[in-house]
Amino acid sequence: MTFPHPLSRFRRTKIVFTLGPSTESEAMLEALISAGADVARLNMAHAKHDWTRMIIRRIRAVSARLERDIAIMMDIKGPEIRTGDLEHPIELRPGEIFDFTVKPGGGPERDNAEEVRSVDVNYKDLINDIRVGDTVLVDNGLIRLEVLEKDNARIRCRVLIPGELKSRRHINLPGVKVNLPAFTEKDRADTLVGLEEGIDYVALSFVREAQDIESLREFLRTHDSRARIIAKIEDQSAITNLDEIVRSCDALMVARGDLGIECPFEELPIIQRRAVQTCYDYGRPVIIATHMLESMITSPMPTRAEITDVANAVLERADCVMLSGETTIGRYPLECVDILKKIAARIEQEAPAPMEEPRYLDGDKIKLLLSAVKMANEIPGSTILTFTRQGFMAGGLAAMRPAMAPIFAFTPLPETFRQMRLMRAVEPILLPFDSDPDNTINRAIGYLVRDGKLQAGDKLVIATDILSSNRLIDSIQLRTVR
Ligand code: PEP
Repeated sequence: MTFPHPLSRFRRTKIVFTLGPSTESEAMLEALISAGADVARLNMAHAKHDWTRMIIRRIRAVSARLERDIAIMMDIKGPEIRTGDLEHPIELRPGEIFDFTVKPGGGPERDNAEEVRSVDVNYKDLINDIRVGDTVLVDNGLIRLEVLEKDNARIRCRVLIPGELKSRRHINLPGVKVNLPAFTEKDRADTLVGLEEGIDYVALSFVREAQDIESLREFLRTHDSRARIIAKIEDQSAITNLDEIVRSCDALMVARGDLGIECPFEELPIIQRRAVQTCYDYGRPVIIATHMLESMITSPMPTRAEITDVANAVLERADCVMLSGETTIGRYPLECVDILKKIAARIEQEAPAPMEEPRYLDGDKIKLLLSAVKMANEIPGSTILTFTRQGFMAGGLAAMRPAMAPIFAFTPLPETFRQMRLMRAVEPILLPFDSDPDNTINRAIGYLVRDGKLQAGDKLVIATDILSSNRLIDSIQLRTVR
C-alpha cells in the first residue's frame, strides 16, 4: 500500500559530489552543503596530499559552521594502466601500426627500424596478460587498437579508431584479466592520509573480486579505522563476480564511466539494474555514478535524456546519485545539485511498486526490521525512528526500501552520523543516548516535534533496543505523538 506522506518534501535519494577546482572554495562548499549535498568525493587520481588534507579540513570547518555534517569519501585509484610521457601528442592514423612498449627505453615516440611509432606503458606484465586479437582502448575509449602480435618488449597493434594520443592516458583492456594488485602502494599512501584526516568512506576502484576488498579491509583493521568500503565496479570481472563483491563490501558504486568502456555499452542499463537489485538483495547501499548531468559541465540546463537517466536511478531506488565532472570542472555545480534535488523530489512522489523481500538478508534482527518497514508501509503517513550506534539498524531499514516513510536515525557517534548520509531515506540525527532507552526515545520525539518534523497525532514505528529485566532486547514499537 502506498500513500502521500506529510513530509512529502523529504528527499530519499542522496547526492554525492566530486571535489575539484569548481567546488573547492569555502563559499561554494558552503552553498553545496546548505543546498543538501550529502557526500563529498575526493578523486585521488588527481588529488595531491597537501590539497587533500586542506580540503577535508575545510569541509569539516564549513560543515561545523553550518551545523550540517556530511560524509567524505576518498576514491582511490586502484590498479590503473597508463601510457607514458610524450614530448608531443601523437596523431594516430586509421590502420596505422603502433607499438606499446614495456621495456624501459622502448618509447616514447621514438621511431624504430620499421618506422613504427610507439609509447611506453607503466605495467610491464601487460605482455603476459594480453592476447593477440584483444582490444586496447586509450583515453576513455576514444582511441581503439587491435593487438596483432607481441614479443617480450612490445605489443604491436593496428589503429582501428584514430585520435590524438597525449601523455599519461588511461588504458582499458575489455575482457583482459590484469594481474595488478587491487590495492596499490599509491592507494596505501593515499588512504593513510585519508585516515589521518578522518574520512568516512574509501571507494576502491576496479574491484574485480571479493578478495580485492579484503586487502583494503585488512589495512583499515590494522589502522583501527571505522571507515567503510565502497566497491567500484568498472569491468567485466566485477560483473561476473558481482554477488561476492556486493556481499563483501559496505556499499557499491556503479562506475559507469569505465564500465561503459570495458563492457558493450548496450549492456550498461542491464548491468545497472542488476547491480541495484543485487545490492537490494544483500542490503547494501548503491551509488549510480558518472554522466548523470554531463552536459551541465558547460550548460545551465540538463538534456532531456539526462533528466530521464536521473529519474531512472531514483525509480530503481538507488541510494545515491553522483556528480563528477559536473562539480570538479563544471560551470554550474550548485545548479546541478538543485536539479538533482528537483528530479528526485518529483520522482519519489510517484507511488513506487512494492518490492519483493530481499533475497539474502536473514537473521532475527533483519526479520524485525523487515516487519517495521512492512508496518510503516501499512500505516498512512507514518514515520520510522531508529536508534543506532554502528548504523546497522538504520542500514537495515534503508535496505528494505520503505515505500514512503522517512527514517530518522539517532546516533550518539559522529562517524555513524556521517556514514548514514549515504543511506536512502535516512536522516541522521546526533543525540547522546541515555542508559534507559525509553528516555532516549522521548528525547528524540521531543527533538523532532520542536524541529517541525512531527506533530501531535503522528504515527511512529520505532525500531530500537529496550531495557527488559536489565537486558537490552530488540523491539518494534508503535507510538502516537502526543
Ligand atoms: C567511473 O568510471 O565512472 C568512475 C566513477 O571512476 P573514475 O571517475 O575514478 O574513473
